[in-house]
Amino acid sequence: MPLTNSCDVLIIGGGPGGYQGAIRAAQAGLRTALVEKNKLGGTCLQEGCIPTKSLIHVAGVLNTVKYGEESGIKVEQYSLDWDKIQQNKNQVVDRLTKGLGQLISANKVDLVEGEARLIEDKKVVVKTHGGENITLRGENIIIATGSHAVKPPIPGVDLPGVIDSREALELPTIPKSMLIIGGGIIGMEFASLYNALGCDVTVVELLPRILSGMDREISRRMESEQKRRGIKILTGGKVLGLNEGCKGLEACIEHRGKEKTIPVEKILLAVGRSPNIENIELETLGIKLTENNGISVSEYMGTNAAGVYAIGDVTGDHLLAHVASAEASVAVDNIIGGKRKMSYRAVPSVVYTFPETATVGITEEQAKEMGLEYKSTKFMMAANSRAAVMGGPQGMVKIITGQEDNILGAHILGPQAAELIHELTLAINASVGAQEIAHTIHAHPTLSEAIMETAQGVNQGFIHII
Ligand code: FAD
Repeated sequence: MPLTNSCDVLIIGGGPGGYQGAIRAAQAGLRTALVEKNKLGGTCLQEGCIPTKSLIHVAGVLNTVKYGEESGIKVEQYSLDWDKIQQNKNQVVDRLTKGLGQLISANKVDLVEGEARLIEDKKVVVKTHGGENITLRGENIIIATGSHAVKPPIPGVDLPGVIDSREALELPTIPKSMLIIGGGIIGMEFASLYNALGCDVTVVELLPRILSGMDREISRRMESEQKRRGIKILTGGKVLGLNEGCKGLEACIEHRGKEKTIPVEKILLAVGRSPNIENIELETLGIKLTENNGISVSEYMGTNAAGVYAIGDVTGDHLLAHVASAEASVAVDNIIGGKRKMSYRAVPSVVYTFPETATVGITEEQAKEMGLEYKSTKFMMAANSRAAVMGGPQGMVKIITGQEDNILGAHILGPQAAELIHELTLAINASVGAQEIAHTIHAHPTLSEAIMETAQGVNQGFIHII
Protein backbone atom coordinates (compact mmCIF):
# COMPACT_ATOMS: atom_id res chain seq x y z
CA MET A 1 0.00 0.00 0.00
CA PRO A 2 1.34 3.46 -0.78
CA LEU A 3 2.19 5.78 2.09
CA THR A 4 0.42 8.52 0.18
CA ASN A 5 -1.82 8.40 -2.90
CA SER A 6 0.22 11.00 -4.70
CA CYS A 7 3.76 10.72 -6.00
CA ASP A 8 6.23 12.21 -8.46
CA VAL A 9 6.61 9.06 -10.55
CA LEU A 10 4.11 6.26 -10.85
CA ILE A 11 5.34 3.19 -12.69
CA ILE A 12 3.02 0.48 -14.02
CA GLY A 13 4.80 -2.88 -14.25
CA GLY A 14 7.64 -4.29 -12.12
CA GLY A 15 9.75 -6.01 -14.81
CA PRO A 16 13.38 -5.03 -15.56
CA GLY A 17 12.11 -1.77 -17.06
CA GLY A 18 9.72 -0.83 -14.29
CA TYR A 19 11.67 -1.88 -11.20
CA GLN A 20 14.93 -0.34 -12.39
CA GLY A 21 13.08 2.87 -13.31
CA ALA A 22 11.53 2.91 -9.82
CA ILE A 23 14.88 2.49 -8.06
CA ARG A 24 16.54 5.13 -10.26
CA ALA A 25 13.68 7.59 -9.65
CA ALA A 26 13.74 7.01 -5.88
CA GLN A 27 17.53 7.39 -5.82
CA ALA A 28 17.06 10.75 -7.55
CA GLY A 29 14.87 11.83 -4.63
CA LEU A 30 11.51 11.44 -6.37
CA ARG A 31 8.52 10.02 -4.48
CA THR A 32 7.96 6.83 -6.44
CA ALA A 33 5.23 4.20 -6.58
CA LEU A 34 5.52 0.92 -8.49
CA VAL A 35 2.38 -1.02 -9.37
CA GLU A 36 2.79 -4.73 -10.14
CA LYS A 37 -0.07 -7.15 -10.68
CA ASN A 38 1.97 -10.36 -10.38
CA LYS A 39 5.49 -10.80 -9.06
CA LEU A 40 8.41 -8.38 -9.17
CA GLY A 41 10.90 -9.06 -11.95
CA GLY A 42 8.30 -9.45 -14.69
CA THR A 43 8.69 -11.79 -17.64
CA CYS A 44 12.47 -11.68 -17.38
CA LEU A 45 12.76 -12.99 -13.85
CA GLN A 46 9.58 -15.05 -13.56
CA GLU A 47 9.38 -16.77 -16.96
CA GLY A 48 12.12 -15.52 -19.26
CA CYS A 49 15.82 -14.67 -18.97
CA ILE A 50 16.52 -16.20 -15.56
CA PRO A 51 14.60 -19.50 -15.50
CA THR A 52 15.68 -20.31 -19.08
CA LYS A 53 19.32 -19.65 -18.27
CA SER A 54 19.09 -21.75 -15.11
CA LEU A 55 17.98 -24.76 -17.19
CA ILE A 56 20.48 -23.94 -19.95
CA HIS A 57 23.27 -23.86 -17.36
CA VAL A 58 22.34 -27.39 -16.25
CA ALA A 59 22.22 -28.54 -19.88
CA GLY A 60 25.73 -27.10 -20.30
CA VAL A 61 26.98 -29.10 -17.33
CA LEU A 62 25.35 -32.17 -18.83
CA ASN A 63 27.13 -31.54 -22.15
CA THR A 64 30.43 -31.40 -20.26
CA VAL A 65 29.63 -34.73 -18.59
CA LYS A 66 28.53 -36.34 -21.88
CA TYR A 67 31.46 -35.17 -23.93
CA GLY A 68 34.06 -35.19 -21.15
CA GLU A 69 35.57 -38.37 -22.54
CA GLU A 70 37.32 -36.34 -25.24
CA SER A 71 39.17 -34.54 -22.42
CA GLY A 72 39.93 -37.78 -20.61
CA ILE A 73 37.09 -37.63 -18.11
CA LYS A 74 34.95 -40.71 -18.34
CA VAL A 75 31.71 -40.53 -16.40
CA GLU A 76 30.52 -44.13 -16.25
CA GLN A 77 27.04 -43.41 -15.00
CA TYR A 78 24.96 -40.33 -14.60
CA SER A 79 21.29 -39.55 -14.35
CA LEU A 80 19.13 -36.46 -14.45
CA ASP A 81 16.98 -35.49 -11.50
CA TRP A 82 14.50 -33.26 -13.34
CA ASP A 83 12.57 -32.43 -10.15
CA LYS A 84 15.77 -31.21 -8.50
CA ILE A 85 16.72 -29.22 -11.61
CA GLN A 86 13.29 -27.57 -11.56
CA GLN A 87 13.57 -26.97 -7.81
CA ASN A 88 16.94 -25.24 -8.24
CA LYS A 89 15.55 -23.06 -11.02
CA ASN A 90 12.57 -22.07 -8.87
CA GLN A 91 14.84 -21.35 -5.89
CA VAL A 92 17.00 -19.00 -7.98
CA VAL A 93 13.88 -17.17 -9.18
CA ASP A 94 12.47 -16.97 -5.63
CA ARG A 95 15.76 -15.73 -4.20
CA LEU A 96 16.09 -13.01 -6.84
CA THR A 97 12.40 -12.05 -6.43
CA LYS A 98 12.88 -11.66 -2.67
CA GLY A 99 16.05 -9.67 -3.29
CA LEU A 100 14.12 -7.32 -5.58
CA GLY A 101 11.48 -6.81 -2.90
CA GLN A 102 14.23 -5.81 -0.46
CA LEU A 103 15.79 -3.42 -2.99
CA ILE A 104 12.43 -1.81 -3.68
CA SER A 105 11.72 -1.24 0.00
CA ALA A 106 15.31 -0.20 0.85
CA ASN A 107 15.07 2.46 -1.84
CA LYS A 108 11.75 3.61 -0.34
CA VAL A 109 9.70 2.84 -3.43
CA ASP A 110 6.02 2.27 -2.57
CA LEU A 111 5.08 -1.10 -4.00
CA VAL A 112 1.40 -1.36 -4.83
CA GLU A 113 0.23 -4.89 -5.57
CA GLY A 114 -2.57 -4.89 -8.11
CA GLU A 115 -3.56 -4.15 -11.69
CA ALA A 116 -3.41 -0.55 -12.86
CA ARG A 117 -5.37 1.26 -15.54
CA LEU A 118 -5.28 4.87 -16.60
CA ILE A 119 -8.38 6.86 -15.72
CA GLU A 120 -7.50 10.46 -16.45
CA ASP A 121 -4.53 12.80 -16.78
CA LYS A 122 -1.97 11.85 -14.07
CA LYS A 123 -4.32 9.31 -12.44
CA VAL A 124 -4.59 5.54 -12.37
CA VAL A 125 -6.87 3.14 -10.57
CA VAL A 126 -5.33 0.02 -9.09
CA LYS A 127 -7.48 -3.02 -8.46
CA THR A 128 -5.70 -4.71 -5.58
CA HIS A 129 -5.60 -8.46 -5.04
CA GLY A 130 -8.16 -7.96 -2.30
CA GLY A 131 -10.57 -6.49 -4.88
CA GLU A 132 -10.24 -2.92 -3.58
CA ASN A 133 -9.93 -0.03 -6.08
CA ILE A 134 -7.45 2.68 -5.12
CA THR A 135 -6.78 5.84 -7.06
CA LEU A 136 -3.18 7.01 -7.33
CA ARG A 137 -1.90 10.27 -8.74
CA GLY A 138 1.50 10.47 -10.42
CA GLU A 139 2.99 13.73 -11.64
CA ASN A 140 4.70 11.50 -14.21
CA ILE A 141 3.62 8.03 -15.28
CA ILE A 142 5.85 5.35 -16.79
CA ILE A 143 4.09 2.47 -18.54
CA ALA A 144 6.22 -0.69 -18.39
CA THR A 145 3.64 -3.45 -18.78
CA GLY A 146 5.79 -5.73 -20.96
CA SER A 147 4.58 -8.25 -23.53
CA HIS A 148 2.97 -11.68 -23.87
CA ALA A 149 3.52 -14.67 -26.15
CA VAL A 150 1.61 -14.55 -29.43
CA LYS A 151 -0.67 -17.47 -30.30
CA PRO A 152 -0.41 -18.06 -34.05
CA PRO A 153 -3.61 -18.61 -36.05
CA ILE A 154 -2.89 -22.31 -36.64
CA PRO A 155 -5.72 -24.83 -36.23
CA GLY A 156 -5.19 -26.89 -33.09
CA VAL A 157 -3.09 -24.43 -31.05
CA ASP A 158 -5.42 -24.90 -28.07
CA LEU A 159 -4.93 -28.66 -27.88
CA PRO A 160 -3.45 -30.08 -24.66
CA GLY A 161 0.31 -30.50 -25.10
CA VAL A 162 0.64 -27.34 -27.19
CA ILE A 163 2.58 -25.01 -24.91
CA ASP A 164 4.13 -21.55 -24.75
CA SER A 165 7.56 -20.60 -23.41
CA ARG A 166 6.28 -20.24 -19.84
CA GLU A 167 4.89 -23.77 -19.85
CA ALA A 168 8.06 -25.07 -21.50
CA LEU A 169 9.89 -24.07 -18.32
CA GLU A 170 7.53 -25.99 -16.05
CA LEU A 171 7.17 -29.37 -17.79
CA PRO A 172 6.77 -32.20 -15.26
CA THR A 173 9.07 -34.48 -17.29
CA ILE A 174 11.51 -34.04 -20.15
CA PRO A 175 9.44 -34.85 -23.24
CA LYS A 176 10.69 -37.52 -25.64
CA SER A 177 10.00 -35.26 -28.60
CA MET A 178 9.20 -31.61 -29.16
CA LEU A 179 8.24 -29.60 -32.21
CA ILE A 180 9.09 -25.92 -31.94
CA ILE A 181 7.21 -23.49 -34.15
CA GLY A 182 9.54 -20.53 -34.70
CA GLY A 183 13.31 -20.48 -35.10
CA GLY A 184 13.90 -17.09 -33.48
CA ILE A 185 15.88 -16.52 -30.29
CA ILE A 186 13.37 -18.06 -27.87
CA GLY A 187 12.64 -21.03 -30.17
CA MET A 188 16.32 -21.80 -30.73
CA GLU A 189 17.22 -21.50 -27.03
CA PHE A 190 14.55 -24.06 -26.13
CA ALA A 191 15.60 -26.25 -29.08
CA SER A 192 19.20 -26.27 -27.90
CA LEU A 193 18.17 -26.81 -24.26
CA TYR A 194 15.81 -29.75 -24.84
CA ASN A 195 18.16 -31.31 -27.40
CA ALA A 196 20.92 -31.29 -24.77
CA LEU A 197 18.49 -32.89 -22.31
CA GLY A 198 17.93 -35.79 -24.69
CA CYS A 199 14.65 -34.75 -26.32
CA ASP A 200 14.17 -35.27 -30.07
CA VAL A 201 13.68 -31.67 -31.29
CA THR A 202 12.34 -30.37 -34.61
CA VAL A 203 12.20 -26.66 -35.39
CA VAL A 204 9.89 -25.31 -38.10
CA GLU A 205 10.72 -21.81 -39.30
CA LEU A 206 8.69 -20.04 -41.97
CA LEU A 207 11.58 -17.82 -43.09
CA PRO A 208 14.50 -19.15 -45.15
CA ARG A 209 16.81 -19.14 -42.11
CA ILE A 210 16.73 -19.42 -38.34
CA LEU A 211 17.68 -16.38 -36.20
CA SER A 212 16.77 -14.16 -39.12
CA GLY A 213 17.72 -10.95 -37.27
CA MET A 214 21.31 -12.14 -36.92
CA ASP A 215 24.15 -11.84 -39.41
CA ARG A 216 23.42 -14.30 -42.25
CA GLU A 217 26.77 -16.10 -42.02
CA ILE A 218 26.38 -16.57 -38.26
CA SER A 219 22.84 -17.88 -38.57
CA ARG A 220 23.88 -20.32 -41.34
CA ARG A 221 26.78 -21.62 -39.22
CA MET A 222 24.46 -21.85 -36.22
CA GLU A 223 21.99 -23.87 -38.28
CA SER A 224 24.63 -26.42 -39.33
CA GLU A 225 25.93 -26.63 -35.76
CA GLN A 226 22.44 -27.26 -34.36
CA LYS A 227 21.78 -29.89 -37.04
CA ARG A 228 25.10 -31.53 -36.23
CA ARG A 229 23.89 -31.83 -32.64
CA GLY A 230 20.77 -33.65 -33.86
CA ILE A 231 18.15 -30.89 -34.06
CA LYS A 232 15.99 -31.14 -37.18
CA ILE A 233 15.47 -27.70 -38.68
CA LEU A 234 12.88 -27.14 -41.39
CA THR A 235 13.44 -23.61 -42.70
CA GLY A 236 10.89 -22.31 -45.19
CA GLY A 237 8.46 -24.71 -43.49
CA LYS A 238 4.84 -23.94 -42.67
CA VAL A 239 2.78 -25.57 -39.96
CA LEU A 240 -0.66 -26.15 -41.49
CA GLY A 241 -2.38 -27.61 -38.47
CA LEU A 242 -2.03 -29.54 -35.22
CA ASN A 243 -4.13 -32.59 -34.41
CA GLU A 244 -4.58 -35.19 -31.75
CA GLY A 245 -3.25 -38.43 -33.24
CA CYS A 246 -3.72 -41.94 -31.87
CA LYS A 247 -0.44 -41.75 -29.89
CA GLY A 248 -0.28 -38.06 -29.05
CA LEU A 249 0.00 -34.85 -31.01
CA GLU A 250 0.63 -34.61 -34.74
CA ALA A 251 1.77 -31.58 -36.70
CA CYS A 252 0.94 -31.28 -40.38
CA ILE A 253 3.76 -29.40 -42.09
CA GLU A 254 4.39 -28.11 -45.59
CA HIS A 255 8.09 -28.16 -46.40
CA ARG A 256 9.75 -27.87 -49.82
CA GLY A 257 6.43 -28.34 -51.62
CA LYS A 258 5.56 -31.53 -49.72
CA GLU A 259 3.17 -32.12 -46.85
CA LYS A 260 4.23 -34.33 -43.99
CA THR A 261 2.87 -35.29 -40.60
CA ILE A 262 5.18 -35.33 -37.60
CA PRO A 263 4.04 -37.19 -34.46
CA VAL A 264 5.31 -35.39 -31.37
CA GLU A 265 4.81 -35.27 -27.59
CA LYS A 266 4.89 -31.49 -27.08
CA ILE A 267 4.54 -28.54 -29.43
CA LEU A 268 6.08 -25.24 -28.36
CA LEU A 269 4.74 -22.02 -29.86
CA ALA A 270 7.62 -19.55 -30.20
CA VAL A 271 6.43 -17.17 -32.89
CA GLY A 272 6.96 -13.88 -31.10
CA ARG A 273 5.57 -11.59 -28.44
CA SER A 274 3.05 -8.78 -28.45
CA PRO A 275 2.98 -5.64 -26.23
CA ASN A 276 0.66 -5.66 -23.20
CA ILE A 277 -1.54 -2.73 -24.15
CA GLU A 278 -4.90 -4.28 -23.28
CA ASN A 279 -6.62 -3.43 -19.99
CA ILE A 280 -4.59 -0.28 -19.28
CA GLU A 281 -7.01 1.99 -21.14
CA LEU A 282 -4.48 3.91 -23.18
CA GLU A 283 -7.36 5.45 -25.11
CA THR A 284 -8.31 7.48 -22.00
CA LEU A 285 -5.28 9.67 -22.66
CA GLY A 286 -5.30 9.19 -26.45
CA ILE A 287 -1.90 7.43 -26.33
CA LYS A 288 -0.72 6.55 -29.83
CA LEU A 289 0.46 3.12 -30.95
CA THR A 290 3.07 1.98 -33.47
CA GLU A 291 2.50 -0.39 -36.39
CA ASN A 292 3.59 -3.27 -34.10
CA ASN A 293 0.83 -2.35 -31.64
CA GLY A 294 3.41 -1.05 -29.18
CA ILE A 295 3.20 2.31 -27.45
CA SER A 296 4.74 4.95 -29.69
CA VAL A 297 7.51 6.90 -27.94
CA SER A 298 9.92 9.69 -28.76
CA GLU A 299 13.68 9.25 -28.39
CA TYR A 300 13.19 10.67 -24.87
CA MET A 301 10.84 7.72 -24.12
CA GLY A 302 7.83 10.08 -23.86
CA THR A 303 4.46 9.19 -25.36
CA ASN A 304 2.24 11.77 -27.06
CA ALA A 305 0.49 12.37 -23.69
CA ALA A 306 2.33 14.93 -21.56
CA GLY A 307 4.09 13.40 -18.55
CA VAL A 308 3.46 9.82 -19.71
CA TYR A 309 6.44 7.67 -20.69
CA ALA A 310 6.62 4.08 -21.98
CA ILE A 311 9.58 1.72 -21.77
CA GLY A 312 10.50 -1.88 -22.50
CA ASP A 313 8.56 -4.53 -24.37
CA VAL A 314 5.34 -2.49 -24.32
CA THR A 315 6.90 -0.23 -26.97
CA GLY A 316 6.99 -3.30 -29.26
CA ASP A 317 10.63 -2.94 -30.23
CA HIS A 318 13.96 -4.39 -28.99
CA LEU A 319 12.31 -6.97 -26.72
CA LEU A 320 15.26 -7.36 -24.37
CA ALA A 321 15.53 -6.93 -20.63
CA HIS A 322 18.63 -4.74 -20.78
CA VAL A 323 16.97 -2.43 -23.33
CA ALA A 324 13.96 -2.05 -21.00
CA SER A 325 16.35 -1.11 -18.17
CA ALA A 326 18.30 1.35 -20.34
CA GLU A 327 15.05 2.97 -21.49
CA ALA A 328 13.95 3.26 -17.86
CA SER A 329 17.10 5.15 -17.01
CA VAL A 330 16.56 7.53 -19.98
CA ALA A 331 12.90 8.12 -19.00
CA VAL A 332 13.85 8.91 -15.38
CA ASP A 333 16.69 11.23 -16.44
CA ASN A 334 14.21 13.14 -18.57
CA ILE A 335 11.65 13.27 -15.76
CA ILE A 336 14.25 14.88 -13.49
CA GLY A 337 14.83 17.55 -16.08
CA GLY A 338 17.50 16.08 -18.36
CA LYS A 339 17.27 15.91 -22.13
CA ARG A 340 18.71 12.44 -22.73
CA LYS A 341 18.01 10.53 -25.92
CA MET A 342 17.80 6.74 -26.02
CA SER A 343 20.38 5.29 -28.38
CA TYR A 344 20.06 1.83 -29.94
CA ARG A 345 23.42 2.01 -31.71
CA ALA A 346 25.09 -0.46 -29.36
CA VAL A 347 22.53 -2.97 -28.11
CA PRO A 348 24.05 -6.40 -27.52
CA SER A 349 21.82 -9.39 -28.14
CA VAL A 350 22.68 -12.93 -27.11
CA VAL A 351 21.31 -16.33 -28.06
CA TYR A 352 22.07 -18.83 -25.29
CA THR A 353 22.33 -21.90 -27.46
CA PHE A 354 25.15 -24.47 -27.57
CA PRO A 355 27.30 -22.77 -28.83
CA GLU A 356 26.28 -19.24 -27.88
CA THR A 357 26.06 -16.42 -30.33
CA ALA A 358 26.09 -12.68 -29.64
CA THR A 359 25.71 -9.65 -31.80
CA VAL A 360 25.90 -5.87 -31.53
CA GLY A 361 25.40 -3.10 -34.08
CA ILE A 362 24.56 -3.80 -37.68
CA THR A 363 24.89 -7.00 -39.69
CA GLU A 364 26.76 -7.28 -42.97
CA GLU A 365 23.43 -7.48 -44.81
CA GLN A 366 22.25 -4.25 -43.16
CA ALA A 367 25.53 -2.52 -44.10
CA LYS A 368 24.87 -3.56 -47.73
CA GLU A 369 21.22 -2.47 -47.66
CA MET A 370 22.24 0.91 -46.22
CA GLY A 371 24.74 1.34 -49.05
CA LEU A 372 27.62 1.82 -46.60
CA GLU A 373 31.28 1.50 -47.52
CA TYR A 374 32.23 -1.23 -45.11
CA LYS A 375 34.79 -3.93 -44.50
CA SER A 376 33.97 -7.33 -43.03
CA THR A 377 36.79 -9.07 -41.17
CA LYS A 378 36.49 -12.47 -39.61
CA PHE A 379 38.67 -14.70 -37.49
CA MET A 380 37.97 -18.35 -36.78
CA MET A 381 37.99 -19.51 -33.16
CA ALA A 382 39.88 -22.62 -34.29
CA ALA A 383 42.99 -20.42 -34.51
CA ASN A 384 42.61 -19.13 -30.94
CA SER A 385 44.77 -20.92 -28.38
CA ARG A 386 42.30 -20.77 -25.48
CA ALA A 387 39.65 -22.27 -27.75
CA ALA A 388 42.15 -25.02 -28.66
CA VAL A 389 42.70 -25.73 -24.95
CA MET A 390 38.94 -26.02 -24.58
CA GLY A 391 38.79 -28.76 -27.18
CA GLY A 392 38.64 -26.65 -30.34
CA PRO A 393 35.03 -25.51 -30.29
CA GLN A 394 33.45 -24.16 -33.47
CA GLY A 395 33.09 -20.44 -33.79
CA MET A 396 34.14 -17.14 -35.25
CA VAL A 397 34.36 -13.43 -34.62
CA LYS A 398 33.26 -11.06 -37.33
CA ILE A 399 33.68 -7.31 -37.21
CA ILE A 400 32.08 -4.88 -39.66
CA THR A 401 33.99 -1.60 -39.86
CA GLY A 402 33.22 1.66 -41.62
CA GLN A 403 35.46 3.99 -43.59
CA GLU A 404 36.84 5.69 -40.49
CA ASP A 405 37.91 2.37 -38.92
CA ASN A 406 34.79 2.70 -36.75
CA ILE A 407 33.03 -0.46 -35.67
CA LEU A 408 29.55 -0.72 -37.13
CA GLY A 409 28.73 -4.21 -35.98
CA ALA A 410 30.23 -7.29 -34.40
CA HIS A 411 29.08 -10.90 -34.35
CA ILE A 412 30.46 -13.74 -32.29
CA LEU A 413 29.69 -17.45 -32.45
CA GLY A 414 31.34 -19.68 -29.90
CA PRO A 415 31.94 -20.28 -26.20
CA GLN A 416 31.28 -17.32 -23.92
CA ALA A 417 30.05 -15.17 -26.80
CA ALA A 418 27.62 -13.60 -24.30
CA GLU A 419 30.53 -12.28 -22.22
CA LEU A 420 32.87 -11.48 -25.13
CA ILE A 421 30.44 -9.17 -26.96
CA HIS A 422 30.81 -6.39 -24.39
CA GLU A 423 34.28 -5.29 -25.47
CA LEU A 424 32.82 -4.60 -28.90
CA THR A 425 29.66 -3.05 -27.44
CA LEU A 426 31.83 -0.58 -25.53
CA ALA A 427 33.86 0.05 -28.69
CA ILE A 428 30.72 0.98 -30.64
CA ASN A 429 29.29 3.03 -27.78
CA ALA A 430 32.50 4.94 -27.12
CA SER A 431 33.51 5.16 -30.81
CA VAL A 432 36.69 3.14 -30.26
CA GLY A 433 38.10 2.10 -33.64
CA ALA A 434 39.39 -1.33 -34.70
CA GLN A 435 42.99 -0.06 -34.54
CA GLU A 436 42.61 0.82 -30.86
CA ILE A 437 41.33 -2.66 -30.08
CA ALA A 438 44.16 -4.13 -32.14
CA HIS A 439 46.66 -2.12 -30.09
CA THR A 440 45.09 -3.04 -26.74
CA ILE A 441 47.05 -5.76 -24.97
CA HIS A 442 44.83 -8.76 -24.30
CA ALA A 443 45.80 -11.45 -21.81
CA HIS A 444 47.03 -14.73 -23.21
CA PRO A 445 45.60 -17.29 -23.59
CA THR A 446 42.04 -15.93 -23.68
CA LEU A 447 39.06 -16.12 -25.99
CA SER A 448 39.17 -12.30 -25.96
CA GLU A 449 42.35 -12.49 -28.03
CA ALA A 450 40.10 -13.59 -30.89
CA ILE A 451 38.55 -10.12 -30.76
CA MET A 452 41.96 -8.44 -30.73
CA GLU A 453 43.09 -10.59 -33.61
CA THR A 454 39.97 -9.85 -35.67
CA ALA A 455 40.63 -6.15 -35.06
CA GLN A 456 44.26 -6.65 -36.14
CA GLY A 457 42.94 -8.28 -39.29
CA VAL A 458 41.00 -5.12 -40.18
CA ASN A 459 44.11 -3.03 -40.91
CA GLN A 460 47.25 -5.13 -40.52
CA GLY A 461 46.57 -8.80 -41.03
CA PHE A 462 46.29 -11.80 -38.76
CA ILE A 463 49.11 -13.45 -36.88
CA HIS A 464 47.53 -16.86 -36.36
CA ILE A 465 45.86 -17.34 -39.74
CA ILE A 466 47.84 -17.84 -42.91
P1 FAD B 1 8.13 -7.39 -18.35
O1 FAD B 1 9.33 -8.04 -17.86
O2 FAD B 1 7.19 -8.19 -19.17
O3 FAD B 1 7.36 -6.84 -17.08
C1 FAD B 1 6.11 -6.25 -17.19
C2 FAD B 1 5.44 -6.34 -15.84
O4 FAD B 1 4.26 -5.54 -15.86
C3 FAD B 1 4.98 -7.74 -15.48
O5 FAD B 1 5.49 -8.10 -14.23
C4 FAD B 1 3.46 -7.65 -15.45
O6 FAD B 1 2.88 -8.49 -14.48
C5 FAD B 1 3.25 -6.19 -15.12
N1 FAD B 1 1.97 -5.64 -15.58
C6 FAD B 1 1.43 -5.73 -16.82
N2 FAD B 1 0.27 -5.04 -16.87
C7 FAD B 1 0.09 -4.48 -15.65
C8 FAD B 1 -0.91 -3.65 -15.10
N3 FAD B 1 -1.95 -3.23 -15.81
N4 FAD B 1 -0.78 -3.28 -13.80
C9 FAD B 1 0.28 -3.69 -13.06
N5 FAD B 1 1.26 -4.49 -13.54
C10 FAD B 1 1.17 -4.86 -14.82
N6 FAD B 1 15.66 -10.80 -22.60
C11 FAD B 1 16.98 -10.67 -22.43
O7 FAD B 1 17.48 -9.54 -22.46
N7 FAD B 1 17.80 -11.76 -22.22
C12 FAD B 1 17.30 -13.00 -22.20
O8 FAD B 1 18.06 -13.96 -22.01
C13 FAD B 1 15.91 -13.19 -22.38
N8 FAD B 1 15.37 -14.42 -22.36
C14 FAD B 1 14.04 -14.56 -22.50
C15 FAD B 1 13.49 -15.83 -22.49
C16 FAD B 1 12.13 -16.01 -22.62
C17 FAD B 1 11.56 -17.39 -22.60
C18 FAD B 1 11.27 -14.87 -22.76
C19 FAD B 1 9.78 -15.04 -22.87
C20 FAD B 1 11.80 -13.60 -22.79
C21 FAD B 1 13.18 -13.43 -22.67
N9 FAD B 1 13.76 -12.16 -22.71
C22 FAD B 1 15.11 -12.03 -22.57
C23 FAD B 1 12.95 -10.95 -22.91
C24 FAD B 1 12.73 -10.21 -21.58
O9 FAD B 1 12.12 -11.08 -20.66
C25 FAD B 1 11.87 -8.98 -21.80
O10 FAD B 1 12.42 -8.21 -22.84
C26 FAD B 1 11.80 -8.14 -20.54
O11 FAD B 1 11.24 -8.88 -19.49
C27 FAD B 1 10.96 -6.89 -20.79
O12 FAD B 1 10.93 -6.14 -19.63
P2 FAD B 1 9.70 -5.15 -19.34
O13 FAD B 1 10.03 -4.48 -18.04
O14 FAD B 1 9.44 -4.31 -20.51
O15 FAD B 1 8.41 -6.09 -19.18
